[in-house]
Amino acid sequence: GQKTWTTLAQFADMIFCLVRTDTGVRKQEGISFLLIDMHTPGITVRPIIMLDEDHEVNEVFFDNVRVPAANLVGQENRGWTYAKYLLGHERTGIAAVGRSKRELAFLKSLAARESKNGKPLIDDPLFAARLANLEIELMALEMTVLRVLAKADKAPGPEASVLKVRGTDIQQALTELMMEAVGPMALPFDPAYLEGKSEHSVFDDDDAAPLASYYFNYRKTSIYGGSNEIQRNIITQMILGL
Ligand SMILES: Cc1cc2nc3c(=O)[nH]c(=O)nc-3n(C[C@H](O)[C@H](O)[C@H](O)COP(=O)(O)OP(=O)(O)OC[C@H]3O[C@@H](n4cnc5c(N)ncnc54)[C@H](O)[C@@H]3O)c2cc1C
Repeated sequence: GQKTWTTLAQFADMIFCLVRTDTGVRKQEGISFLLIDMHTPGITVRPIIMLDEDHEVNEVFFDNVRVPAANLVGQENRGWTYAKYLLGHERTGIAAVGRSKRELAFLKSLAARESKNGKPLIDDPLFAARLANLEIELMALEMTVLRVLAKADKAPGPEASVLKVRGTDIQQALTELMMEAVGPMALPFDPAYLEGKSEHSVFDDDDAAPLASYYFNYRKTSIYGGSNEIQRNIITQMILGL
């Protein structure tokens, strides 16, 4: 088999895989959860270099890989049940309210140092309104995450899809506003500087230099953990009952 988009597989010693172990049943039922040693013969990791030139994801190929039965996690053919439990937690984590709060504070500092028509950008009514709107969305998301987590006796179910969609919408909007705040200062792409291997080659602006990479890299958030379109399907069917 083959798995595309395996994050940081180049550093991994072990990989969890959902593998087809019964073809004669409903497609969700014939899947098992295996823990596989990455050094097993037949496993090849091929890098995928992304838009920001970073090696973050990989293709992993499995050619006639043999796995000891002891590496089966839980019961055979119950893998999808375990996977749904993990996905609920993964999607709740992807909402990443704490990280967005930090990025919002950084965005405010950028908007305070930039100027528009002789005044700080943060005082521009249109920019300030967009910033305030994002902050309100983030506060609402935080409340919603806390409501989901308050049901501690139960793993997050389809409501995790709401958190994933709202969280990643906010993360992407933050990267967009940061790019807008610094304007052309974000345009130079200087990988050597970003990796700490050289001084700035264009503008001497530590805050603006990584923003374009950050913006492009964060396009991934509406894809990973299950695409946002699929999350909307889950919300439609499992929460709204449509
Ligand atoms: C940066 C990155 C890191 C990742 N890391 C990992 C990792 O570490 N481990 C891992 O297991 N996976 C990882 N993934 C994989 C990720 O979970 C999948 O890419 C994602 O779930 C989408 O699946 P897909 O790529 O097969 O797209 P597809 O399912 O082929 O979807 C393609 C497009 O069609 C749309 N689409 C598909 N079906 C429907 C439908 N029924 N209704 C409406 N629209 C639909 C999708 O929304 C999407 O826009 C990563 C992905 C990325 C981009």
